[in-house]
Amino acid sequence: MENLEIRLYGDPVLRQKAQPVEHVDAATRRLLAAMARTMYLAEGVGLAAPQVGISKRLVVIDVGDGLIELVNPEIIAKDGAVEGVEGCLSLPGLVGDVVRSQKVTVRALDGRGREREITGEGLLARALEHEIDHLDGVLFIDKAKNLRPAQSEEEAQDE
Ligand code: ZN
Repeated sequence: MENLEIRLYGDPVLRQKAQPVEHVDAATRRLLAAMARTMYLAEGVGLAAPQVGISKRLVVIDVGDGLIELVNPEIIAKDGAVEGVEGCLSLPGLVGDVVRSQKVTVRALDGRGREREITGEGLLARALEHEIDHLDGVLFIDKAKNLRPAQSEEEAQDE
């Protein structure tokens, strides 16, 4: 699969509710791999399929602890609240302060169709919530305070 093009704010696909994946198959795995390549090339920590123009419930995340592939992810538990600086690959150059859960547990299928649960804290919890929001057409600017141009000294990670 060719490298995928990241869709930018204003593209209607970013506001659509993405459809569940009914069969996890070789095409799903190829798409997840292409999404991961696209995320790494863009130096992001997460990417959801709508961000590459595909309205399906697929997410890839790597906050530095290895690649996580999620099919049809659902948040099943959340705890705490923490404000942090956040950015998005679909809104380059923009950051804002977003309150996210401190800890999140997600149920999903992996690239082989096996059910799994992932619990993430801190940046991983933030990335899980940010990416799952994308699947429902929600962008971080809908929740952010103090939207501003990204400064190089800020620690925002693009998702
Ligand atoms: Zn994003």
